[in-house]
Amino acid sequence: AALSRKDDVDVKGGWKTGDPVPYAALTKTFALIEATTKRLEKTALLTSFLYLVIQRSADGDSKSLLQAVYLCINRLSPDYVGVELGIGESLLIKAIGESTGRSIAVVKADLKKEGDLGLVAMNSKNSQRVLFKPKPLTLSFVFANLREIALTSGHSSQAKKVSIITKLLAACQDFEAKYIVRSLEGKLRIGNAERSVVVALAHAAVLAEKDKAGKKWSQEKLTKKLEEGANTIKSVYSELPSYDEVIPALLKHGIEDLHEHCKLTPGVPLKPMLAKPTKAIGEVLDRFENKRFTCEYKYDGERAQVHRLEDGTVGVFSRNSEDMSKKYPDLMEQLPRCIKASTKSFVLDAEAVAIDRTTGKLMPFQELSRRKRKDVKVEDIQVRVCLFAFDLLKTLQERRELLREHFQVVSGEFDFAKSSDGETTDEIQTFLEQSVKDGCEGLMVKMLETDASYYEPSRRSINWLKLKKDYLAGVGDSLDLVVVGGYYGKGKRTDVYGAFLLACYDSDSEQFQTICKIGTGFSEEVLQSHYDALKPLELTKVRGDVRVGGAKPDVWFEPQIVWEVLTADLSLSPIYTAAQGLVEERGISLRFPRFVRIRDDKSAEDATGPEQIAEMYESQALAQSKGKKKKGDD
Ligand code: ATP
Repeated sequence: AALSRKDDVDVKGGWKTGDPVPYAALTKTFALIEATTKRLEKTALLTSFLYLVIQRSADGDSKSLLQAVYLCINRLSPDYVGVELGIGESLLIKAIGESTGRSIAVVKADLKKEGDLGLVAMNSKNSQRVLFKPKPLTLSFVFANLREIALTSGHSSQAKKVSIITKLLAACQDFEAKYIVRSLEGKLRIGNAERSVVVALAHAAVLAEKDKAGKKWSQEKLTKKLEEGANTIKSVYSELPSYDEVIPALLKHGIEDLHEHCKLTPGVPLKPMLAKPTKAIGEVLDRFENKRFTCEYKYDGERAQVHRLEDGTVGVFSRNSEDMSKKYPDLMEQLPRCIKASTKSFVLDAEAVAIDRTTGKLMPFQELSRRKRKDVKVEDIQVRVCLFAFDLLKTLQERRELLREHFQVVSGEFDFAKSSDGETTDEIQTFLEQSVKDGCEGLMVKMLETDASYYEPSRRSINWLKLKKDYLAGVGDSLDLVVVGGYYGKGKRTDVYGAFLLACYDSDSEQFQTICKIGTGFSEEVLQSHYDALKPLELTKVRGDVRVGGAKPDVWFEPQIVWEVLTADLSLSPIYTAAQGLVEERGISLRFPRFVRIRDDKSAEDATGPEQIAEMYESQALAQSKGKKKKGDD
């Protein structure tokens, strides 16, 4: 069944073993995937395509599969290398106009009608009369050109980009223009999350290996092998999140032995392990019943994953796997002093926190965020940082011993996250109060031993709980939401946006779901700076992957900017679409949302998901019903 659509995604005649992959095969697959809403079918279509890529690649060619996978997830390099697309609308409109001989005004008018620049490009192309059929595009040619566009910078780069895009578009047939344009925009919008691509890749590899070896498996065995394969690639990828490493190893060594060849590698940043919010110390004790755990200060800074390679090179990566070496030249200079001489390569998990070097006092995140992000020179740095280390990527017990064995405290520059292995509510309470007094956000409570204390990359694990001072005040956890729309201000505020439409992100359907309008509590100055940041992201029409519901903002934005928002209350809503269908048919909305800060360490896809919002709503409902009961008892 996994390959039932093989013939559909194939291109007749033009693709034999050893040939370059036709770009048309990929875009045909995309079109079929976009046309179905069934998740299993989407995965099956992608599996069939990747299977053909593997089967028809010449021996030793792993590049074809690598590039195919990158184009399916619309990336051009591993995250941490940061070769990014996301070409602005006006540039694309210009290129579409030039390659199809239509005026910019006409292309713009079409866009207003269709709301999808990809569709506009495809329709413009297909209604154009051509004398010669252009030479078919190959996947590797498109990939190379997209990379060149992404890497072009500096003087006259805009013109260069337009010229490459124009040439690419001129060679497009059928669906190709639609998906090239969407790739360039940075969003494929076919409803295919990276997770499904990983599953499809695993299924394709299992099937290709089976067919190559001429094996016959029962349906039952096949199902089992497919599932195992998917788990293998998922776990290997979470340890080594780089297709550049994983795909060649997959083709060379096969899926069964992949684990042996792809391991945690200093230099390749991992998605960090995350924590679950808890509301009370009692909840911590319930969850970790009879198990040993530790409480650590939850520092109010920025996550920093520090890598050191055998050759001594050091790198610092953000929560998002962005290279932060340029942002923290002071850390780069401090680090060698805290690493003991015998230590070679490692991956260290830590929090970088602003510190007053004279008093040794920790400073809040706001101080840290005043630092420049780019081209920072050590001599200009006002706000100094101290790195608080809490993990080394092996059980936490072992990892903590190793931490202390290999690093040393340098006052004001490097320290181990402060911890206490207290067990009773009182002990934890005292430690929590102390952490807040010392300028931290609260505590991180972590399971110490047993199988459960392995480092779990990218998971919001129940083995890490966070206990924040805010929760104790009854405020609840904050949400990270994407700004998708704006409302013009009134009175004094007419030349800036006065309110904003926010959305959460559902990674399963790859859709943004609206959740609330936020418009109070902003100062003039803050509104101006939001305006400056959001104005360039204005769109002529709402993007297809935003589930709007009944919201009617004056302008739409490219979903890109993430805000941390606090709320006093969640309620069911007939207007907004967040978490629709999870608790009830209606969506969930925030009442009295309050802006806390910009989270520029998070991308739109890292925004809070609908499951978490549903969970928050349900636990609030539970607390309320308990509260009522208590009152009734009195
Ligand atoms: P938040 O906004 O609460 O920081 P988040 O979504 O960024 O949440 P979580 O996993 O929920 O991340 O919370 C843990 C975060 O707390 C980590 O990402 C890290 O930046 C920070 N932190 C501070 N001290 C510690 C510590 N001792 N152990 C682990 N994380 C810590």
